[in-house]
Amino acid sequence: MNIRDKILIVEDERSISNFLRAILTSNDYDVIVARSGAEAYSMITSHCPDLIVLDLGLPDIDGLQIIKNVREWTLLPIVVVSARAHERDKVEALDLGADDYITKPFGAGELLARIRTAIRHTRTGLANETIATTGKFKSGDLEIDYDKHRVLVNGQNVGLTQNEYKIVALLGKCAGKVLTYDYIIKELWGPGTRGNNQSLRVHMANIRRKIEKNPAEPQYIFTEIGVGYRMVEGD
Ligand code: CA
Repeated sequence: MNIRDKILIVEDERSISNFLRAILTSNDYDVIVARSGAEAYSMITSHCPDLIVLDLGLPDIDGLQIIKNVREWTLLPIVVVSARAHERDKVEALDLGADDYITKPFGAGELLARIRTAIRHTRTGLANETIATTGKFKSGDLEIDYDKHRVLVNGQNVGLTQNEYKIVALLGKCAGKVLTYDYIIKELWGPGTRGNNQSLRVHMANIRRKIEKNPAEPQYIFTEIGVGYRMVEGD
């Protein structure tokens, strides 16, 4: 018998928490629900969930504050569910340590993918167990060879520059997870680098020309508008 992962839903709107509970229960998760920030804190300590699905708009405590507090003592994965369309909230939630976000309205498949990815990232420390064991990331016809520092499509080296390779390698390690522009820039060019979104965008345009069949409709690296980039999950 498998031990089920336990998910804490923090959501004050009953229709949404019922919807979430139905999806998660039918996909073999144990589900508990908190309707306020205060209830969430007490359930985190008493139930030790494996992941939190967190609504940012709660009646008592701002969801962003909850992320900040929880991150002071645990790496417990947090997936933010937000009705707010503002990119700034998403970026702030990610910067405070949320693992990912999903915007209402969303489909069951999208939610489940975010949850799977967040739990896996937290458990393995690395996005991809296969990278650790084989030195490779694969998704469809795309392959990142971490030992030889190159990227192949259909077995052909696509000839990325060093900077382009670094960007793709980082996204591959965190496949399935959104990385903010700031995070990518700091990881690649050091913490002092600022205001380099423009050069990141230029690199991404070049990367897409080299790896995507149709750069306007990417199948490997997606843009999360105003937030960052996300690599498709590996095979
Ligand atoms: Ca709410």
